[in-house]
Amino acid sequence: MPTNLQTAPSTFVSVNPATGEALREFESATPEAVHTAVARARAAQPGWNALGVRSRIAVLRRFQSLLHERKASVARVITSEAGKPLVEALLTEVMVVLDAARFCIENSFAFLREQPVPHANPAMRTKAGCILREPHGVIGIISPWNYPFSIPATETLAALVTGNVVVLKPSEFTSLCALELASLLHQAGVPADALQVLVGAGETGAALINADIDKLVFTGSVATGKRIGQAAAARLLPVVLELGGKDPMLVLDDADLDVASSGAVWGAFVNAGQACLSVERCYVQRSLYEPFLKACVRKTNQLRVGNGLDPETDVGPLIHQRQLRIVESQVEDARALGARVLTGGERLAHLGENFYAPTVLADVTHQMRVMREETFGPLLPVMPFENDEEAIRLANDSDYGLGASVWTRDRSRGEAVARRIQAGAVMVNDAVSCFGISEAPHGGVKSSGIGHTHGCFGLEEMVRVKYVDSDRMPTVKKLWWYGYGESFRQEMEGFVDLMFARSWGSRLHGALRSLGAITRKGKL
Ligand code: NAD
Repeated sequence: MPTNLQTAPSTFVSVNPATGEALREFESATPEAVHTAVARARAAQPGWNALGVRSRIAVLRRFQSLLHERKASVARVITSEAGKPLVEALLTEVMVVLDAARFCIENSFAFLREQPVPHANPAMRTKAGCILREPHGVIGIISPWNYPFSIPATETLAALVTGNVVVLKPSEFTSLCALELASLLHQAGVPADALQVLVGAGETGAALINADIDKLVFTGSVATGKRIGQAAAARLLPVVLELGGKDPMLVLDDADLDVASSGAVWGAFVNAGQACLSVERCYVQRSLYEPFLKACVRKTNQLRVGNGLDPETDVGPLIHQRQLRIVESQVEDARALGARVLTGGERLAHLGENFYAPTVLADVTHQMRVMREETFGPLLPVMPFENDEEAIRLANDSDYGLGASVWTRDRSRGEAVARRIQAGAVMVNDAVSCFGISEAPHGGVKSSGIGHTHGCFGLEEMVRVKYVDSDRMPTVKKLWWYGYGESFRQEMEGFVDLMFARSWGSRLHGALRSLGAITRKGKL
């Protein structure tokens, strides 16, 4: 039997979710192609690393100016393939990436500088220690469709600037966006083998995990993340897992009603609710509950749903039918269990098959799926609470812990509540937008993931920390080496007392007992 059977590539089509138009047909990368790409990447890594951080920063600068020049055309590619309004493609994708490049340009040199490690232990004073941050080598990136440009780009920039090379497997729904990113980086000077895009679905991603990569950065659903975590554990492959969320929004009774309701409507419906940091659950203190609902319904009814390429559009389509059916089934479940649908709650079939009306649900409970499972669609489910304690308990009553928001005129009250919420990021008086702060770490707790992207914590994930220790007295044997015996034991007991005894008298006594060790030559 032949042992190296070649897998025939399957094909798939990238589709505009607003119109159903086929944008391009692709051949999935086979497992063989994945292994070949990773081998090429590995061969390219030493050269890319040897360029040095200043030269890599110069490449990022060129990338940044190319992206800035082409911002409008890149935004159009994103909108055509992912559906979001053009202005969102510009602000939440292109601008986020321009700023992530700025962050890497400004911070990578200092980040990668050797860091001296002073020693406090007197026995170690003859040593000079320092920390080196070295690239892992080949970073595999598997990314989702909802921010198809900014997610792979921010991760790729951090990986490249720290001296790694990248093999990127984008979502099968948004391959064009990833190819656009690669094209800009290659034009800026990243060698072809130092950044490769392999298109395909889950099987291509699974092949990447099994290939000879040194670390994997995965962004996607909890279900896939768990599968990937298991596969990675089997070969001790380090991973970053950026997974789903069920972000709570807490509206305290002193919040500005107009601001909080606008924030809720934007936070729940931006990118048609398909943001990992979307407002997925909204809790409102009883005294504001009915007026808040009224304001949200009024504002939701003013939103224009349609094709994202139309500049007047506020809310675009969902990515595909499967996503729409999840939204529909959660609304049906909530309705059946007594929730009120105040607006929306239906498909907008006249616009196309992936459109769902922005929906406000009232009187939801934690028995409903809409408050427990990630929706990833244009739903704003709202329920009342009585006091801050109850709001915090409800916010933390979730398997997820990605983001959260607290709304109040009293910042110290908001920050006190924020400290008690189990989440990777909590915003006071805004939602979602911390993803656009390049300095802010992004990552979840509980089922929302492991590790970070963005900021210095994101750079830290891209490097191995190596401690180098260099002794300044190469001709002197260390006093703790062999040559043990009762007198040495006593000297060392004295030394431990010198270091850690509570009273100065005992320390002095310890110092005297340990004196002999200083002149000790050692028998070996
Ligand atoms: P998904 O898990 O279906 O797919 C994500 C990626 O994994 C895709 O590229 C897919 O092809 C690939 N994949 C699927 N099965 C695989 C397997 N067995 N092995 C390897 N790769 C595999 O997620 P999605 O629908 O593309 O994205 C939406 C999800 O992503 C939501 O849950 C959302 O909350 C989450 N998300 C999280 C963040 C974050 O930063 N925490 C950001 C954006 C999206």
